[in-house]
Amino acid sequence: MPNFYRTQTLKIEAQPIFSEVNAASADVWNACCYQMAMFQWHRGYPHAHRDFYFGKDCEGWMDKRLSHPLLHSQSRQAVRERYFKSWKSYAVLKKSGSVENPNPPNNRKNYMTTRFKKSAIRFVEGALLGKRVKLSLAQGHPKIDIPLPSNFDMSKAEHIATIDLCYHYGQWTLHFSYKYETETTATGGEVVGVDIGEIHPIVSHDGQDTHIYNGRYMRSLYRHRNKVLAGFSQAISRCKRHSKRWWRLTRRKWKRIRKIDNQIKDALHKHTTKFVKYCHTKGIGTIVLGGLTGIRKSIDYGKRANQKLHQWAFGKITELITYKAKALGIKVKMIDESYTSQTCPKCGNRKKPNNRNYICKCGFKYHRDGVGAINIRAKYLGHFGVPVVAEKVSDRMTPPLGFRLIVPKVQVALSQIKECA
Ligand SMILES: [Zn+2]
Repeated sequence: MPNFYRTQTLKIEAQPIFSEVNAASADVWNACCYQMAMFQWHRGYPHAHRDFYFGKDCEGWMDKRLSHPLLHSQSRQAVRERYFKSWKSYAVLKKSGSVENPNPPNNRKNYMTTRFKKSAIRFVEGALLGKRVKLSLAQGHPKIDIPLPSNFDMSKAEHIATIDLCYHYGQWTLHFSYKYETETTATGGEVVGVDIGEIHPIVSHDGQDTHIYNGRYMRSLYRHRNKVLAGFSQAISRCKRHSKRWWRLTRRKWKRIRKIDNQIKDALHKHTTKFVKYCHTKGIGTIVLGGLTGIRKSIDYGKRANQKLHQWAFGKITELITYKAKALGIKVKMIDESYTSQTCPKCGNRKKPNNRNYICKCGFKYHRDGVGAINIRAKYLGHFGVPVVAEKVSDRMTPPLGFRLIVPKVQVALSQIKECA
C-alpha cells in the first residue's frame, strides 16, 4: 500500500533551549561540510570540495565521525541526511542545467531547523498539565517540554513520523508530519495532462474536456507583493542600516510579505484541491505533469524577482498535486514538457503561438494553454506530434472552462509605508 505524508504546523511559545538546539543542528551541518572536505582530501582531491559528490560510502564514513553533546543521535542523522540530499539536488541541477550556476551546499550556517524522529518524540496527557509533547535530546539532557493546545488531536500520535522545530521571523513553530497509508487505489485508467503555466496555474486536459483554473487572483497577489517589496525597500534604503527605524521597517516589511505569501499559498491549496477532487470523481488514474526543465525560458519576466516567484509557485503546485493525488491513490508522472506548447495537436506542425489563441495553418484553433495540456497528455501516451488521421480531435474537445477562485479583493495600501518614511 502506498504511503503518504501530511504536515501540520503549530505556533508555539519561545523557550531559550530552542535556539540552542537549532544552533547545535547548524554545528552538525558545518561539521558535515568539514568532513566532506576531509573525505575528499583523504581520497586525493585536495580542493575538490565544489564539484564532487560521493555516494553511500561517504555517508557511512561521515556518520561515524559526527557527534554532538546536545542533539539526539537521530536528529544529528537527520542533518546529515539533509546535507546529502542537498548534494544530490545540486548534482541534478548541475546536470540538467536548469539553473545557471547552482551553489553546492557548502555554506556555513548559524541556525538550522532541527528534526526530531519518532523515537525522540513522546506525547503525554495529564490532568494537571494538559497535553504536552516531549522531545528528547542527547543522554543526560532534560527533554524539551512543549505544551500543546487543548484541542490538539492526540489520536494522531500513532501516525507521527517527525517533528521539525522551525524559526521564522520571530515565530517558533512545530511542523508535525504524519505518515498514513492509502486504502483507496484509483480504478480508472484515464490519463489527464496538466500544464502549469505563468498565466493560469493549472490547465488540464483529460481527452475530452479542458479546464483552466483562473490565475487572475494569484497574479494580482504577485503584483501586490512586488509593489509592497519595492515600497519598503525604498523606505528602508533611506534610513541608516541597523538603526531603530531600519529594524522597524524591516520587521514590518516581512510581516506584510508573510501575509501575502500565505494568501498565495492558500490560493494554491484551493486550486490544487479542486483539481485533485475533480480527478477523483472522474475516475482518473494518472496525472501527467509537464516539468523539470521548468518554466519556459522564452517568456520575458522583466524582473528577476518575478521569475523566482513563478518558479516557487511552479514547484509548489507540483508538490501539492503530488501529495494530494497520492492520498487518493492517483499516480503522478512527470515528463519533459519541451515543445508541448508549440506543437499542433492535430497535424503535428510546430509553431510558436503569439497570442492567447493557438491557430495552426491546418485550421486547428484552440486556447493556447489548452494546447500545452493536450500535448503533455499525448506525450505521456506516446502519440505526441503524430498527426491525427481522424478529424475528431477538435470535435471531441469542449471549449475550455474557466474556474474562478472567489476571493476578497486585494487592497493596495502603500499609505502605511509612506507615513513612516
Ligand atoms: Zn495543425
